[in-house]
Amino acid sequence: MEQTHANVVKNQNVDSSFLEEVKKTEAGKKILDCIQCGVCAGSCHARFAMDYGPMQIIKMAQLGLKEDVLSSSTIWICASCYTCTSRCPRGIDIPLLMSSLKNMAIENNVPAKIPAKPKFHKAFTEIVGKYGRMHEPQLQVRLMNKTSPKVLFNNASLGLKMWRKGKVKMMPPKLQGKAQVKTIFRSALRKEEKKE
Ligand code: SF4
Ligand code: SF4
Repeated sequence: MEQTHANVVKNQNVDSSFLEEVKKTEAGKKILDCIQCGVCAGSCHARFAMDYGPMQIIKMAQLGLKEDVLSSSTIWICASCYTCTSRCPRGIDIPLLMSSLKNMAIENNVPAKIPAKPKFHKAFTEIVGKYGRMHEPQLQVRLMNKTSPKVLFNNASLGLKMWRKGKVKMMPPKLQGKAQVKTIFRSALRKEEKKE
């Protein structure tokens, strides 16, 4: 059933500090500029899979509905395609906002409605940090280790087809600038550690 602002507010506790927390993030600085026009929700091709649309997430964050926002599937399903932002009349960086909300969900130990999603993001980041770019076979193996062997079986036939067409390499990529990527990752991790 489609959730409305009214029934969300009625059923949830409000955390008045949440809006201030969101406003401290880069994308959250503009959160009060949202005019609830709905262009983002109407443009979002992933909306069908989300529990709340991007416009609702913004309104809920404005209202301080921390638990609902951080436990939503929306923040993990957003594909960062930027369709919404390219059309938003107020220039709000919605994918960046979703990323900040994901970080907050992890920091606050809010369990994700789709538990594999944070694990996917972690595995993805580990591989890019190590090789400087994605290596799909290793992503599958790491995801399998973090979730279940089904991951490998579910994607085996697609992986084989991609390998036959030369789209996937068995060996990890050799990338120029790998050391610089590692430095960027180390610096980002140091900043995260200082925050904790
Ligand atoms: S398109 Fe922009 S202004 Fe309109 S509802 Fe979405 S975020 Fe708010
Ligand atoms: S960036 Fe995320 S919220 Fe915006 S249109 Fe793409 S999937 Fe939807």
